[in-house]
Amino acid sequence: MSRNEENNNGLIDCHGSSKALRLLETLTRTPAGNILYQQIERILHEADHTQDRIIRGYTALVLTLIESYRRKLPRDSLLYLELKLIQKRLIPPISMSELATMQGYIKHASRLINELSDVDDEIIRQALAPLLGKIPHDHHHPLVTHQDHTPQANLSTEQHVDSVYRQKLDQQRRELQHLQTQITDKIAEATRQYADFSQQLNSTRDELQKISDKQELTELRTQTIREIGRLLDQQANLAAVLTETKQLLDKVNHNSQQLSHELDQVRVLSLTDDLTRLPNRRAFIRRLEDEINRSQRENSPLTLGMLDLDHFKNINDQYGHNVGDEILQIYANDVLSIFRHYDMVARYGGEEFAVILPNTDHEGALRAFTKVKNKAGGHYHRLNDTRLPLPSFSAGLAMHLPGETSKEFIERVDTLLYKAKQSGRNRIEFDKTREKHEKLVTDTMSES
Ligand code: GH3
Ligand code: MG
Ligand code: MG
Repeated sequence: MSRNEENNNGLIDCHGSSKALRLLETLTRTPAGNILYQQIERILHEADHTQDRIIRGYTALVLTLIESYRRKLPRDSLLYLELKLIQKRLIPPISMSELATMQGYIKHASRLINELSDVDDEIIRQALAPLLGKIPHDHHHPLVTHQDHTPQANLSTEQHVDSVYRQKLDQQRRELQHLQTQITDKIAEATRQYADFSQQLNSTRDELQKISDKQELTELRTQTIREIGRLLDQQANLAAVLTETKQLLDKVNHNSQQLSHELDQVRVLSLTDDLTRLPNRRAFIRRLEDEINRSQRENSPLTLGMLDLDHFKNINDQYGHNVGDEILQIYANDVLSIFRHYDMVARYGGEEFAVILPNTDHEGALRAFTKVKNKAGGHYHRLNDTRLPLPSFSAGLAMHLPGETSKEFIERVDTLLYKAKQSGRNRIEFDKTREKHEKLVTDTMSES
């Protein structure tokens, strides 16, 4: 977001007037200008003040709504945490960037709300919609608009899920640390009690050794009985401390198991696309970078293909978003599954997939993509009584060039994909630059 946008949006940055005044400061150089300046200053400050009050009033209203809703949720639910985060961030003044982050939280919370069956999402929808700047119309995803399927949105959702999980993990880590401190205290207490106990036994033994007459023996007997009673009490106490310590250790064990489970989930969530279960863009970029390094190290061919479904919007428009989702799942799991297991098929964005083909030149890749094309052509989606043919796709294919970064490589393939779209769709465009490059190297070598 540019700074201008941030300044222009008086609703959020209600102190933008000070910036405007700074621009008008030259006015103060003349007496007439100074009067004008003071007038403007007064008007702007009044406007700021009113704006500020409106925002604060509005925020208080939203906070109350969220609070009443949040209280009904289980404390350990992700949604509870999510709403708490929103409440924390809702304290004015809110900058545009904070608002954008918050909108990310809200979008995520709205997805969680949709997963709860016993919730009247109308309440929360009313509470949150103003913050999103609009009231969405999608019936299937009350608070999620179709724009959420853009790659950027997918990415920020991932980042968002990551951040929510990280906060949860941090909280668990803090709990673990607390438990560990408690255990250390309990062990110290048990050790101290045990030392007391040993001391008592030692002194009783010393007394017994010193005894010479019957009178003393009787006294000591009484005293010993009393001491043993006390020791037994201490012993019971020690047993209780140890039992408590064991319970704490069990809890630590349970928590750390949960923590590692959560960590696994974060790892999976941040690398997998929710809808298709394919690796997501982040996982794709990571793998592409590895494969580029490998290909350069081993001097092996590496091909990248990107494909985008043709006129996919029509499917959503004609049959609804759910059918669109199903088609994407079919493509991901039934059509693109024909690639070899060491190829990587990833969901790059909305209806765009990327395929990394290690150890493959563009001819091999072209053969594979042609197979995919044929498979898609013969596939149908059963919809009530009709068979809906799958949409075709356009694709770009290129081999990696020496020294090319992952970003440059993706851009080159994306340009080819664009070219395939421009040339009428349902086609595969490939780039022979690598072959030309290799031929040039061979020719130069044979000349020298
Ligand atoms: P083109 O042949 O030029 O690619 O046309 P298109 O209609 O496929 O492309 P366009 O970019 O105009 O529209 C893409 C559509 O894909 C719009 C968007 O709502 C939809 N879309 C993206 N992600 C998803 C998703 O996860 N589910 C569904 N159902 N639709 C999605
Ligand atoms: Mg498309
Ligand atoms: Mg597209």
